[in-house]
Amino acid sequence: MSTKITEAVEVIVVGAGGTGLVLAAELALAGVPAVVLDQLPCRNPQSRAGAIQPRTTEILQLRGLLDGVLERSVDRSSLGGHFAGLPVPLDYSVWDTRYPYPVSLPQDRLEELLEDRLTELGGRILRQHRLVALQQGANGVTATVTSPDGTRSFHGRYLVACDGAHSTVRKLTGAAFPGQAGTIRSASADLVLTGDIDDSARHISGNIRTSPQGYFTLLTPLGDGLHKLIFSGPQTSQADRDAPVTIEEVRAVLHATYGTAVDVAEVRYASRFSDASRQLEHYRHGRVFFAGDSAHIHLPAGGQGLNLGVQDAFNLGWKLAAVVRDGADERLLDTYHAERHPVAARVLTLTRAQGAIMGPQRDGGLSELRDVLTDLLGLPEANRRLAGMMSGLDLRHPMPAAADHPLLGLRMPDFDLLVADCRVRFSELTRTGRGVLLDLGDAPVTDAAPWSDRLVQVRAKTDAIDAESVLVRPDGHICWAGGTGLADTLTHWFGPAAG
Ligand SMILES: Cc1cc2nc3c(=O)[nH]c(=O)nc-3n(C[C@H](O)[C@H](O)[C@H](O)COP(=O)(O)OP(=O)(O)OC[C@H]3O[C@@H](n4cnc5c(N)ncnc54)[C@H](O)[C@@H]3O)c2cc1C
Repeated sequence: MSTKITEAVEVIVVGAGGTGLVLAAELALAGVPAVVLDQLPCRNPQSRAGAIQPRTTEILQLRGLLDGVLERSVDRSSLGGHFAGLPVPLDYSVWDTRYPYPVSLPQDRLEELLEDRLTELGGRILRQHRLVALQQGANGVTATVTSPDGTRSFHGRYLVACDGAHSTVRKLTGAAFPGQAGTIRSASADLVLTGDIDDSARHISGNIRTSPQGYFTLLTPLGDGLHKLIFSGPQTSQADRDAPVTIEEVRAVLHATYGTAVDVAEVRYASRFSDASRQLEHYRHGRVFFAGDSAHIHLPAGGQGLNLGVQDAFNLGWKLAAVVRDGADERLLDTYHAERHPVAARVLTLTRAQGAIMGPQRDGGLSELRDVLTDLLGLPEANRRLAGMMSGLDLRHPMPAAADHPLLGLRMPDFDLLVADCRVRFSELTRTGRGVLLDLGDAPVTDAAPWSDRLVQVRAKTDAIDAESVLVRPDGHICWAGGTGLADTLTHWFGPAAG
């Protein structure tokens, strides 16, 4: 098969999972020519991730996607967050958010929403396009794919690897992926169940069960009679990664854990995963960036992986647009690694800790450790700390080039603002993906005019923000809060002044 003509784009995105779709949508919103390449013929229909954490909800709402999320969610009642399934809910409301609960949204439905949005924005996904080779040069990256039309190649100024835990880009670039190998294998299966399930087994979160036979299960309803069962057990923990999950294996788990009154009629989709915990040392390799599971993998404890990927993409997308479209300094792209690498490193620590605490072992003082931690979670400050980490609401990024201020680097909550006597939510100002400059004092900021094509500048009133004016990046983080240095800050994050 001969290689077809190379097609030129600005950014090549490899992988159309949640990470790749968010990244591509941000690029499409900014009008940056990009293409998404995915090896699969259609979206992965398996539910997999089930929880959207509060910071992810906030960023989805920054682009007006919350209604779509709630329409597709399994249950709109407020769920508590949890740490390691311990019986004290994490209280997210102390973090000044409009969305203080995880939303129960199966991953396939989030991906459907994101794909619809990408299509609406004119973005392009090429399915059955499997990346097989990669070449970096001084000016860009060439990606070679196999497709139903034969071998094709694409040239982009940048390539972003969103190709998941077994990333081909990682292998092709030789990027080291240090960490811990998996010690146990578990499985996740979307099931049609029959018979009676003890109602306490189907609560949406915190229903982790262990059985004397060594089974560990978490059962959640997906709606329309479907359930997701995450499980490990004597047979499962030794299975090969690619071994099919059988109906007999699932039945044995169900009967051992919930009794024989419940049975499985159909295993609709299933896959295996492990507790391997790894992270790239560098998220940038020349003109190639890594985001989502291609950059970090861990046990899916506490519902973090997809959230991390979506947030990685949301951090990187507008920065790529600023460089490609607005001529921002290339070094802006290094802030992606600087800001996002520590976040995933912390999640790896938290998931390993939870894996240890949630394990089925009862010896070695683990029960006592659970009791101690449960007690500590009752303390407001301990609960707040973990709630901030698990929800992603405590993130604060370093903000160079700005005058010091206590708000710098923090996320901007979705406050109500009074704009020309109308009540407006902050998230209504961010739909276009531009930065937002809020004039909250008496004198409007005038020196941002040369960046007006990249900013939404609004005179507003609110008691919630203690500053005369704030500049908020497209990803919702405050990068300037009055004082000196506005022009430098604008140049740093948004590129040089126009004209
Ligand atoms: C049982 C389970 C439960 C989970 N629960 C949660 C949860 O509650 N909350 C949470 O946040 N996370 C959860 N996760 C983790 C979550 O599923 C992953 O973190 C998420 O899928 C990562 O998204 P991604 O887009 O980075 O990668 P993926 O979803 O893996 O997408 C990668 C894409 O790249 C494509 N691709 C791969 N190789 C190539 C190639 N060579 N060429 C072209 N395309 C390629 C694939 O086809 C795929 O579409 C869970 C995971 C499991 C297994």
